[in-house]
This record gives sequence, C-alpha cells and structure tokens, in this order.
Amino acid sequence: PGAEECEVDLPAVQVCVRVRPLLEEELRAGGSAEALRTASGKVTLALSEGNEENIADRDCRRVRKPQEFAFSSVFGPESSQEDVYEGLKLDALMQKVAAGYHATVFAYGQTGSGKTYTMEGYRYRPDAKAAEAGKPQVCVHTTTPERLGVIPRVLQKLFGYVDKLQREVDDNGETFSVSISFLQIYQERIYDLLNPAPVLPQGFGQAEDSGLRLRWDAAREHFYVENLFVYQCTSAEDALKFYNAGVQRKQMASTAMNIASSRSHTVLMLTLRRRSVLAETSDLGSGEAVREVMSHLALVDLAGSEKAAAANEGNPERFKEAVNINQSLFVLRRVITALSRRDSSHEEDTHIPYRESKLTSLLQHAIGGKGFMVMLACLSPADRSYEENLSTLQYAAQAA
Ligand code: ADP
Ligand code: MG
Repeated sequence: PGAEECEVDLPAVQVCVRVRPLLEEELRAGGSAEALRTASGKVTLALSEGNEENIADRDCRRVRKPQEFAFSSVFGPESSQEDVYEGLKLDALMQKVAAGYHATVFAYGQTGSGKTYTMEGYRYRPDAKAAEAGKPQVCVHTTTPERLGVIPRVLQKLFGYVDKLQREVDDNGETFSVSISFLQIYQERIYDLLNPAPVLPQGFGQAEDSGLRLRWDAAREHFYVENLFVYQCTSAEDALKFYNAGVQRKQMASTAMNIASSRSHTVLMLTLRRRSVLAETSDLGSGEAVREVMSHLALVDLAGSEKAAAANEGNPERFKEAVNINQSLFVLRRVITALSRRDSSHEEDTHIPYRESKLTSLLQHAIGGKGFMVMLACLSPADRSYEENLSTLQYAAQAA
C-alpha cells in the first residue's frame, strides 16, 4: 500500500449509536419519547413515570436510576444521513479499503430501529404496473440524494479512491479491480441476492433448498460461498446497479417466500484486488508471475435483535427461525467480545468462535486481524422500546 493512504488515522473498532426520530404514525398512536436522551458521545436511558406501564419486565422496572453509556459517536434523532457518513469516518474507511485493508460496517438493533434506513435509505412504494397485472406486492424503490444511506455513499467514495490510486500506478502496470456480491442469511442458510434465476415460492427458505455452501479456502485462509454470483464492476454506477437489483430481489423473496427481512441478515461484499505483474516469463517456465493484494469491504444489515418472543408461540417453524437468528447474532457478540479481550490482553492464541455461525465464518477475515470495524447500534426513541434499547446499549457498550 502507498504510504500516503495509510497515514489516515482511524481506530480499528468504532462503536457508534444512532437514534431515529419518532415517526409520525407513532406520534399519532400516542407514542412518547422521554426515556432516551443523546448528547455528544453519550446516551442516557431513564425510566420516566410516563413509560413505566409499558415495561413488561419487572426487573427493568426496578432500574430507576438513569443509565449513561459512552460511544465513539452518538447520532441523535435530528442527524442526517450525511452526518452519519461523516461521523463514522467512512471517507477514511474507504481510503483504508483502497489501500488494502479489510473493513466491516454492521447495523445492529431491534426491528424498526432504523438499520435499513441507515444502510440503504430507500423508500418503497407499490409498483403501479405490477399491481395492474395482479401483483400488488411488488414494490419499486425511490430515494433522494439526502436520503441515500451508507451503502450508496460508500460505493461512490470507494470507486473514487480506487480510480485515484489506479492513475497513480498506471505507469508501473499495476491494476485494480472491484467485484461485488450480495447475500442473505436466513435460518443459518445462505441465499444469493444476485443470482438472476427467478425467485420461486418453493425455492429459497424451504426445507428442500438448503442454500449455498460455505467452503474453506486454505490458500487465502478464509471462507467463501460456493457458486455465489460475483460481478466485476468498473464504476460506482455499475456497483449500484447490482446492489439495487439485489435489493429488489430481497424484496421479492420476502413477499414470495415469506422471509421477513427483519429476520435475515444481508451482507454486501465488495472485493478489491490490486494486481501487479512481477515477471512476464521466468526461468522457471512460461506464464506470468503476479502478486495480488485483496481487501474486503462488508456492509451488513443484521436481523432484528429483539428477543425471540416467537420462540414461545408453539409454532415449530418460528421456533427454529428464532433460534437460528439468534445463533448468528449470539456468535457475533461472542466473537466481538473475544476479539476485544484478545486485543486488551495481547494473547494472540485466544480462541475466537468464528466458525459457530455462518455470518461470523463469512466475515472472519474482515472482522478479526488487521481489519477495521464499525458497529452502528440503532435505537428507536419510543418509550415502549425501553427494554430493547437497554439491551442494545448494553451489547454495544460491551463491544466498544
Ligand atoms: P429496521 O431496518 O431496523 O427494521 P427501518 O430502517 O426499516 O428499521 O426503519 C423503520 C422505520 O423508521 C422506517 O419507516 C424508516 O423509514 C424510518 N426511519 C428510520 N430511521 C429514520 C431516520 N433517521 N429518519 C427518518 N425516518 C427513519
Ligand atoms: Mg430492516
């Protein structure tokens, strides 16, 4: 990596919090937002007289003292998508990726807390043409520049930096290339969001379709997904086109196969390769000798972190689902705890349980080791979300 690019100062782990505004429909339904307060780098969660009756858990009622949590950055309800992009230092992160480092951005939080808004930022409305054709469930997405989330913004930036580096190394024959893949993990099964085959009701999500397999690449020491579609992109527009197609496919899958996006994890993976030719031919034989440096950027919209109340409903399919969702989230949490313990104790041989879930296996190389990680915990401001907010804040504080 060029020396200049590496001088950007960026912490290896950032844990940040975003609180979304109270929505109009929540206001209309008489919702209040008293319990949660944000200040620079801080979140305070209190129990007010007004929200007490909403708290189901008796233990929570006893925690009357306001609790304060500190983070790298805290974004209040008035924060814009731009504020979040700036505050998370995603510019610097993209410079790191362009320079050959791995990076991962996670959005964590209960369903409805703003994860997808933050990562994606699209607005959905029913597709009039499809509705006419008797398919009212098909949606189209629209957006405005201000509303664009983390993903479209970083794509733009990443290609900007890659182009700049490419111009700098043009003379010595080095080349950069970027590829994109997009997948969904549901019940510990992996589904390709960029496979152009039609989404069928009997297809993904059903017992007979077990999803794609994870394979171990011994040479590169990481897991990869067998048969996953990976596309080469030459511009941000190109990459966005694939991303949007995947978003559309996610939408169709959720209606056709009844996979609520809140119960699945989505992972957008960008792979950057920097290739240099060491020799055209050599004494050892004909054929190019090349050196390749590869970096991964993973942008992850996690499944809702809410407690699996469904586990008690007596529906075996829902039960299995709840347990499996928690598997990836639960293991992710243990991985992050183990990593921070390893880093503070400098014990290199600490066991990190990556292999215990699909998500952490897949992201192993990106979240451990020399990568950069951003964990964005999303919160709903509504008082009725007190318990979930408390659990999200406790989790995030532990990861910090
Ligand atoms: P999640 O993905 O965590 O389930 P969403 O991103 O779908 O949550 O957000 C839930 C609702 O709140 C959506 O209607 C979304 O448009 C809205 N919302 C979330 N964050 C914001 C925000 N920062 N500003 C305005 N509306 C938001
Ligand atoms: Mg979502």
